[in-house]
Amino acid sequence: MSSIAVDVTTRQKIASLGERVLAGEKISRDEALWIFSLDGSADIFDLISWANRIREHFKGNKIHLCSIVNAKAGNCSENCQFCSQSSFYQTGSPKYGFIDPEPVLEAAEEASKNGVTAVGLVAAWKGLNEGPILDEVCDRIRELKESGKARPDASLGLIKSQTVANRLKEAGLECYGHNLESSKNFFANHCTTHTFEDRLETIKYLKNAGIKICSGGIIGMGESREDRCDLAMSLREIAANVVPINILNPIKGTPFENYPQLPPMEILKTIACFRFILPRQEIMIAGGRTTNLRDMQSMIFTAGASALMVGNYLTTLNQPVEKDLQMLKDLGLDPNWEHNFDDQEQSCTSCSN
Ligand code: SF4
Repeated sequence: MSSIAVDVTTRQKIASLGERVLAGEKISRDEALWIFSLDGSADIFDLISWANRIREHFKGNKIHLCSIVNAKAGNCSENCQFCSQSSFYQTGSPKYGFIDPEPVLEAAEEASKNGVTAVGLVAAWKGLNEGPILDEVCDRIRELKESGKARPDASLGLIKSQTVANRLKEAGLECYGHNLESSKNFFANHCTTHTFEDRLETIKYLKNAGIKICSGGIIGMGESREDRCDLAMSLREIAANVVPINILNPIKGTPFENYPQLPPMEILKTIACFRFILPRQEIMIAGGRTTNLRDMQSMIFTAGASALMVGNYLTTLNQPVEKDLQMLKDLGLDPNWEHNFDDQEQSCTSCSN
């Protein structure tokens, strides 16, 4: 008798939080911690069902698709312990310098054929300073923009001056990917060559330059649920426009190679919690979804995701784009639309929020 009473209370509490999010209210850290702590599958499915409602309310049936090009691979000076491109680890991942225009334009052509609206140039290095490499980066961004095939995005590491961010903006960059990766408390457990604060500083320069922010993190690195909650709260604080959630894909040769995978229900619950905390953001599922979620991949949208990284990741394979597009079609979701960042600032179309 008492266990039924407890279940009803939990269900009512989830529903009440869901109603408040739909009404435009922010949930508190304590409330967020509570949803992260849910364990029973019935409660998680209740949470997921509300996350789906919140996604539909703020995002309709639109799914934003992104792809990336590895613009400079391997030999990175940083020691991020999940990363196969760090020079600290022997992983057998490719190594090459900054790429020529052709592969970028080919990636844009491929993206445009598949209805993918953004192509991100991603470089494995500590960061970007003024000098000839910045000139080359700006050239690639300009060429991508002029091709008219895809929105030029980039993820080029730490930025230490306003001038660099301004140059990227002038070249036509609209959105920069710079993950916080984990909570402030957990950060030193996966990287000691730069800090959480370095990442916040980069985001400050980008925002000053008028560049939109794509920032999220990686789950499954041994962090607690509280760390995941704090990551989501930090992303709300910096007002990230797009929030990629990566799920650790342990790479042979890295210190995390033997980490156990997170259970799929824990991953889906985490996505749902992020949707409660970040109701208007594009929550994008990126690296690690195929290997960690397997047959449960399509449930990411029910759990609140509104964007998808398609094509191959930097050093690991994803399922073919055609399969992703079929998955979206089967779910009645629409990937063929031009993403507009202003959507996040505008009123919701179905209410006055
Ligand atoms: S800075 Fe980026 S490329 Fe370099 S090790 Fe860290 S995650 Fe990998």
